Amino acid sequence: MLTAWKKEEELDFLNEVSCVPLQQGLRHLQTAFSNFWAGRTKYPNFKKKHQGGSAEFSKSAFKYRNGQIYLAKCKEPLDIRWSRLIPEGCSPSTVTVRLHPSRRWHISIRFDDPTIKPLPVTDKAIGIDLGINSLVTTSDGNKVSNPKHLKKHHQKLRRAHKSLSRKEKGSKNREKARRKVARIHAQITDTRKDHLHKLTTQLVRENQTIVVEDLAVKNMVKNRKLAQVIADASWGEITRQLAYKCRWYGRTYIEIDRWFPSSKRCSNCGHIVSKMPLNVREWECPECGTRHDRDVNASKNILAAGLAVSVCGASVRPEQSKSVKATAMKLQT
Ligand SMILES: [Zn+2]
Repeated sequence: MLTAWKKEEELDFLNEVSCVPLQQGLRHLQTAFSNFWAGRTKYPNFKKKHQGGSAEFSKSAFKYRNGQIYLAKCKEPLDIRWSRLIPEGCSPSTVTVRLHPSRRWHISIRFDDPTIKPLPVTDKAIGIDLGINSLVTTSDGNKVSNPKHLKKHHQKLRRAHKSLSRKEKGSKNREKARRKVARIHAQITDTRKDHLHKLTTQLVRENQTIVVEDLAVKNMVKNRKLAQVIADASWGEITRQLAYKCRWYGRTYIEIDRWFPSSKRCSNCGHIVSKMPLNVREWECPECGTRHDRDVNASKNILAAGLAVSVCGASVRPEQSKSVKATAMKLQT
């Protein structure tokens, strides 16, 4: 249909750009529909114009020469402020140009990086509990507090939103106010990203094996009271980064089933208490009398369960939790 559209007068603008991003757009649409038909996502909806947009250029539609990117149908190279340099001898395979709602242009370049090599092997293994008070609690007792980026910018964001709602629709001032809101959002995203990358890189550098819980973030966000805080903590992004960085640097990444009773189980003797309300931060095991910090205890259990999985290939599912508990305990003693 694309060829026919290009001949229509009111769609003449389609001829102004290279055909590659147009085809890529159609491919993305197909992915969206496949996901919809497979029941994974909702029906695809149109992108809003003011949200910017993106164009993906595959190998035939751009040139990479002398450290410059030339897009098809553009005479000049892109004026890029590089965040990092492409290593010598690398050839990019995809270039994506994106316009952020704050009118900031971004370009992402995909290439195979030969400088990424496995890190020297260590024998440290770690379990990680993701939370709200402490963003990350590790089984060796370290806690990383949750920076709560959204909360810090909340006032500024609220003022900007208020001012936006007072502006007349379609006016220039409204557009200015809209950009201001978008800029604050961009700032929050940037600080969050920076923080998460530093955190996950450090965890991967220091540990050979990393065990996390498979979080049903999607289900948890349905809890409206917590939704904003959970989304801001971006647990999903943490596990995503840990997974690919482990792959890059030759580390082992293990995800255990989220139904594993990590908070209710005593990491010392294996006793499982019947209840563990969210507000309990510290507790004492009725069996062995060990005093536990809730999150550290959970991360110790996560580590033990993960090691059991990696050693005997057991799966940590509720119906099999008995056998896993046994193996996990054997490993500890
Ligand atoms: Zn105990």
